[in-house]
Order: sequence, then C-alpha cells, then structure tokens
Amino acid sequence: MARLGSRFGRLVVHGLLLVALPSFASAAAETRRVLVIHSFGNAAPPFTTHSTAFESELIAKMGEPLDLDEVSLDVARYTTLDMEEALIELMRKRQTRWQPDLVVPIGLPAGAFVAKYRDRLFPKATPIIYSGMDQRRLPPEALQQNATFVGGSLDLAALVEDMLQLAPATTNITVIVGASPFEQYWTAAMQRDWVSFTNRVRFTWLNDLPFDQMLERVATLPPRSFVFFALLMRDAAGVTHDADEALRRVQAVANAPINGVFQHQLGLGIVGGRLHRVERQGTESAQVAIRILRGEPASRIPPRVIGAESPQYDWRQLQRWNISADRLPPGSQVLFREPTVWERYRWRIIAVVALVLGEAVLILVLLVNLIQRRRLEAEARRLAAELAQLTRVNTLGALSGSLAHELNQPLGIILSNAQAAQELLAQYPPDTAELKDILADIVKADRRAGEVIERLRALFKGGPSSRQKLWLNAVIEDVLRLTRAELLSRGVSTVCDLTPELPPVTGDRVQLQQLLLNLILNAADAMAAKSPGKRRLHLRTMLQGERVRASVRDEGEGLPADVDRLFQPLYTTKPQGLGMGLAICRSIVDAHGGRLWAENHSEGGAVFHFELPVAEVARGEGSGNR
Ligand code: ADP
Repeated sequence: MARLGSRFGRLVVHGLLLVALPSFASAAAETRRVLVIHSFGNAAPPFTTHSTAFESELIAKMGEPLDLDEVSLDVARYTTLDMEEALIELMRKRQTRWQPDLVVPIGLPAGAFVAKYRDRLFPKATPIIYSGMDQRRLPPEALQQNATFVGGSLDLAALVEDMLQLAPATTNITVIVGASPFEQYWTAAMQRDWVSFTNRVRFTWLNDLPFDQMLERVATLPPRSFVFFALLMRDAAGVTHDADEALRRVQAVANAPINGVFQHQLGLGIVGGRLHRVERQGTESAQVAIRILRGEPASRIPPRVIGAESPQYDWRQLQRWNISADRLPPGSQVLFREPTVWERYRWRIIAVVALVLGEAVLILVLLVNLIQRRRLEAEARRLAAELAQLTRVNTLGALSGSLAHELNQPLGIILSNAQAAQELLAQYPPDTAELKDILADIVKADRRAGEVIERLRALFKGGPSSRQKLWLNAVIEDVLRLTRAELLSRGVSTVCDLTPELPPVTGDRVQLQQLLLNLILNAADAMAAKSPGKRRLHLRTMLQGERVRASVRDEGEGLPADVDRLFQPLYTTKPQGLGMGLAICRSIVDAHGGRLWAENHSEGGAVFHFELPVAEVARGEGSGNR
C-alpha cells in the first residue's frame, strides 16, 4: 500500500507542477491531458515497468504543458462485470471534469476493457494508444476507431526453446504463474503453444498453489529441471504479488535455473534468452503519444509491433548453474560479467608483483654484493697478511746488517774457542780442564746464536694469529734484543722506564713484536739527522686503569700537524719506505681491542702510544712479574 501511495503521490505532485507551470510561462500553450489506464495497479511489473518508462519519456520529451491522470482496473483483484460497470461509471463522472486528450491503456486487460467499452467510455474524437499487449489478443475492430498500437508479440514457443538451448538435458519445466483470469488466459495459451515440447519435457504448472507452496516446490526440484517464471499477479490463495519481488524470492530458494519473459528481469535471477523489453514499448508509446498530442491522427500512425530483443544473459546465473558460454547463440550479450580477480585488481597485482620482483632483485643484488664483499674482504685480509709479511721482511731487511753482527759475535767466539781447543789437543797431555771450559764457551756461544735465529724465525714466519697471555714488558725486551745491534749501529741509545708487575694482556706475540719493531725503527729513522749523542729512544710502560700503555718516544724532528695521515696506508716520506708500517700497527692494535695514537712530545720529538686491555683472566688476579 505504501508503495502505491508514494507512486500516486509522485504523479500528483508532478501533475500539479506541470499544470502550474504554464500559467506562469505562457498562457497560449494549452495543457495536454493524458489518461493512463493500468491493468493491475501501480506496482505490477511488467506493466508498471512499461508505464513508468512511458510516463518518464513522455514528460521528458513532450516539451509542452502536460497533465497525466491514471486509473487502474486492478483486474487481479476485481474481475467481475459489476466492477467493470462501476469503473465505467466512475470514469464517465471524472470526464465531466477532466476530459483526456489521449487515452493509453497499458496491458491486455486494460486494452480489452477500453476496446470493449470504447463507445461508452470516451468520445469518438479521443485517440487511443493500445500499449504493452499482444495485438493478436485485441478485437480486430479496436484499431479502427481513432486508435493505434504499440506493443509486443510474444512467441511462447521461443521461451521454451531458449531454456532448452541453455540446458538441452532439461526434462522438467516448472511454470510459475498466478491464478487470476488474466493469468489463466496465459496459462491456457502456454499449454496450447507448448504441446509440441511435451514429448521431450514435462511441464509442471504451479498456478493452483499459493506462493509459499510454489517456493517450496522450486526448492526441491528433481535434477534436469528449469523454472519458468511466467507471471505472478495473484496466486491461488487470492494474494496479489509484485512479480519482480516474487521472482527475487523464487531465485533465492530455487535449486534449478530460472527463466522469464522480460528483459528487466535480468539481474533479478533469470538466466536469459530472447527477452522482451517492456521499457522500449513504453518509450515508443510515449513517442507515438507526442505525435498524437501534437495533432497527428492516431489512425494514421501504423501499429508498432516490437519483438524480442537479441539474446541477453546474466553472467552470474550462467556461472551459478554451470552453463557453458558455448551454449549461448551467436551474437549473445552477457551482462553482469564479474571482472576476474585479474581484471579487478590488475594494477594492484602488477604493483605487488613488481614490488615483490623488485624486492627479490634488490635482495639478489644485495646478496651478490654481500658475497662479493665477503670475497673482497677475504682477499683484503689475505693481501693485508701478505703486506704485513712484506713489511716484516722489509723491516728485517733493515735489521740484516746488525743481525749479521749479532750472529758473527757468537760464531767468532765459537771459532776462536775451537781453534784454542785444537791447539790444546796438540799438546800432550792435553789440558782437559781447559778443554772443558772451551767447550762450555762454545756451547754458550752456540746457544746465543741459536736464540737470535729462533727469534728471527718467529718474526719472519708470519702465519695466523694466535692469542695468548703476554706481558708487554717481556715483548719489549724481546724486540730490544733483536734490535740492539741495529740501534747501536745507528748510534741510538735506549732509555727504558718499564713499570714492573704490569698485568698481562691477551695478544699475538709476533704481531705485537712487529708493532714495537715498527715504532722503534721509525723512531730510529726519525733521529737519523740528529747528532749521535742526541739519538735517544725512550720506552715506557704503565698501567692506565684497565689498560696497559706502552709509549715509544724519540728525539727527532717530531710529527707534522696532520698526524692521522701517517696512519693511512702508503703514506711515506722515506725514499725506500712502503708507507704501510703505521697502517699495519694500527690494524694490529685495533684487532687487539686497543688504541694507537701519536703526538709531539713537549720536549721535542714524537711519541707513539698504544694501549691494550688487561687480559680477562688477569683481572682480579695478581700482577705478573714480567
Ligand atoms: P714508512 O716507515 O715505510 O714510511 P710508516 O707507515 O711506518 O711507513 O710511516 C709513515 C710515515 O710516518 C713515515 O714515512 C714518516 O714520515 C712518518 N713517521 C713515522 N714515524 C715517525 C716518527 N717517529 N717521527 C716522525 N715521523 C714519523
């Protein structure tokens, strides 16, 4: 009821507006009056689908003042002759106040009513458009009385053909149709026109059931069924229905595909086929109405028969009932196609894939970089080790003269003692006591030479670093023993201030020896230009909190302002220098978790300090005595 009310409300307002407008706009323009006669009230698709399209098109295209009135036969409810009489009476009374310029019955019941009572209802001069019905169902004389026709021609057999086209295996077609006389009429027409299919399909007619039972039936259909939704205006229980709403409810429960007659039902649950577009009949009726309202005689306008549209289908229903697209006739149009995930999210998918690929490439590049870096690092370590070795060899090359001296001394002692022994042995009897002393001296001198060689060998050898607990003072003394001759030959005197009882550090003996060797030889180099008496090397150790510090100081020219440069690889000011000594020294100290730095001493010359952390185990223990 609410729906009817609102629709009438809209039309009245619309009518008022259209009536009111001309009085302001132009007094000359005459308001044209159109009476629409509905078959089934104002909410009865497909008829109201038709009438809505008609009215909208008419209002939109007319361009002149227009007054629309409506009346409804409501044949689904009131079908008796006395009702018809009452309606004729009412319409005649209304015409004494409001005489239409055009009458448009919509749907066969309204058309048949107007044709039947043409003379009683309207003056001969009132034109009629019979609209939204099958012309063949009208009395032949209807169109001869100032009337024309815009409607369809329903091929009932085609409706079954379309279902069988989609599902050739169908053996049961269940027909939903109401029980009003109009629907009974169509039921009979369908039964007549479908006889030729009965050898192949069994038709089940639900016209004698209330709608609820129809719903139960369509929910439990046997396999190979199709539901044909013909028309539902009033069911067997006398309940009137909005056919579109009913179709929606059928599709919600049906266990078989559904087909219907009208194009507007696509989207409400039907699969599709050659459908009838009642809106088109409506809009074309409106165009004919405009011609008539502008003065063209209705009888001169030839009847327009609008057939079915070319086949159209609802993609979702095809999917739902697993109907292959191969089954659709050529030239079919498929509506409501849901875009595939790819179609819907193409750009997002592309973006995500690109992102993932990009990330993968990035990860790959990083991985390759990492591998290369590892390789380069390994290579760099190898080269650094080789370079360290080279530097050691270089340093030792510098020491070679004094090392020869170191070795010559014991060798000389051995030689002279051996010669003395030979002489003693020539005497008779030889002085054995003297010989013993000589041999003891030889052994001693040999041991000394052996020690020198051993120390050199360790330093030359290089090899992987091995950590052990070390006492820095002991390492310094080792290096001093190695360099003693060299320093002497260079006129460098050594001043030691080594703090006794320092705790041990953890380190690689050979590396720390190399560190000290570099610093000591650099200090000696720095003092080469000084007069011999002023070439003093100061060595100092001390405890600085948790660290042991060693300082190597010279009395040379001192350091340039940019001290950090000295530690950069390949920086050298010496003609034979490699420029790697201090860089290696720093990397040795860094690897030991310590710190190496240099500064100028307040009394002149440079001083290089390095600090190493006290060995873990040594903390809390007593200090070593070395
Ligand atoms: P190299 O000794 O082969 O030149 P180093 O890395 O050991 O390589 O030293 C780099 C440079 O630092 C030296 O060439 C020198 O100019 C400077 N240098 C090093 N030690 C001292 C020092 N005790 N006094 C002054 N300059 C120094």
